[in-house]
Amino acid sequence: MTSGSARSFDRQWAELAEIGRHPQTGGYRRYALTREDHDLREWFAGEATDRGLDLTLDRMGNQWAWWGDPDTTPGLVTGSHLDSVPDGGAYDGPLGVVSAFIALDRLRASGFLPWRPLGIVNFTDEEGARFGVACAGSRVITGALAADRALGLRDGDGLSMAEALRAAGRDPELIGADPETVRRVGAFVELHVEQGRCLVDLDHPVALGTDIWPHGRWRLDFPGEANHAGTTRLADRQDAMIGLATTVLAARSAATAHGCVATVGKTVITPGGVNAIPSAATGWLDARGADEAAVRRTVDEVSAAAADWGATVTEESWTATTRFDLDLLARVREVLPAAPLLGTGAGHDAGILATAGIPTAMIFVRNPTGISHSPVEHAERDDCLAGVGALTAVLTELLGTEPAGARP
Ligand SMILES: [Zn+2]
Repeated sequence: MTSGSARSFDRQWAELAEIGRHPQTGGYRRYALTREDHDLREWFAGEATDRGLDLTLDRMGNQWAWWGDPDTTPGLVTGSHLDSVPDGGAYDGPLGVVSAFIALDRLRASGFLPWRPLGIVNFTDEEGARFGVACAGSRVITGALAADRALGLRDGDGLSMAEALRAAGRDPELIGADPETVRRVGAFVELHVEQGRCLVDLDHPVALGTDIWPHGRWRLDFPGEANHAGTTRLADRQDAMIGLATTVLAARSAATAHGCVATVGKTVITPGGVNAIPSAATGWLDARGADEAAVRRTVDEVSAAAADWGATVTEESWTATTRFDLDLLARVREVLPAAPLLGTGAGHDAGILATAGIPTAMIFVRNPTGISHSPVEHAERDDCLAGVGALTAVLTELLGTEPAGARP
């Protein structure tokens, strides 16, 4: 690793460090179409123009910085996102963007001439922290999320995405599928901090992604009857919370039995008074796992447990296993033969592009605790620089040799 790369990493990291950081929690609150989002986009635009790259926006506002003309030959794209979950960490997203700029600098500094363009992307609203749909930026341009539905999504204050776009000086009429932009992407490689803990045990700084686990969200609505918490005999109660609480424990048991993960991380209790028996309780189940049938069995058991309490269960989303391109993975493995292969339980824009038919690969950088979506999310600087090295090697391979036949 050159000291120039390390200096560039430190500079970019320092510039991003304060944007959207909450002074009390130390976590990042970088939500789509906010002041913080604007500042991050300005930063990205500055990095692109400083390098003389062509900066373009697509119909969803994702930012693309191109070295070369992707309308002549579809390009290789790398990058990630700059938004965050509530009180997220510094690495989830920005590590992929920062690494992309440094890798491009290294290619240019070595006098390397790519056979096709190289693009760096900043996908908007990857986490879906504000409007509730993850990967909205890549979903809309690939047509996986209809413009009408996206524009009607509302944030916690009841503001629609259309209204938020207008407030940010953007035209909601422009939002929509963008086949022209998608056509420019010949292949996509996303570098991302590891989420979950594997690499520290495998003693390796980077891994390659094989697939994104099947995952979904289900809404569980439990009925009850409001009454006084002090005067109502236990036998006379219809307490919606008991059904929800029992079902949360059933989810844990089912996930354990089937080798999956299941989480109820959001609940709404009505009326929500300390001295009132809940008249309704709603919980959202998130279930994922390496094996699709096992996730389905887990959810079936949770649904049966919920039905015992009179609950209705609504599937809000379901995404089957997303496999990354095998030919592309084979080429990346030739460059990084020692890197372990990992499936991931986290969703990514890479998964949306893969589903849209774009050959896609992922590189994960070791996260020593595995903790992510938290202010304490961390990666060692040396590992980040190893990630830059790995990405540079992969780009060199994928841009250095024009593939014969249909190789990506
Ligand atoms: Zn991410």
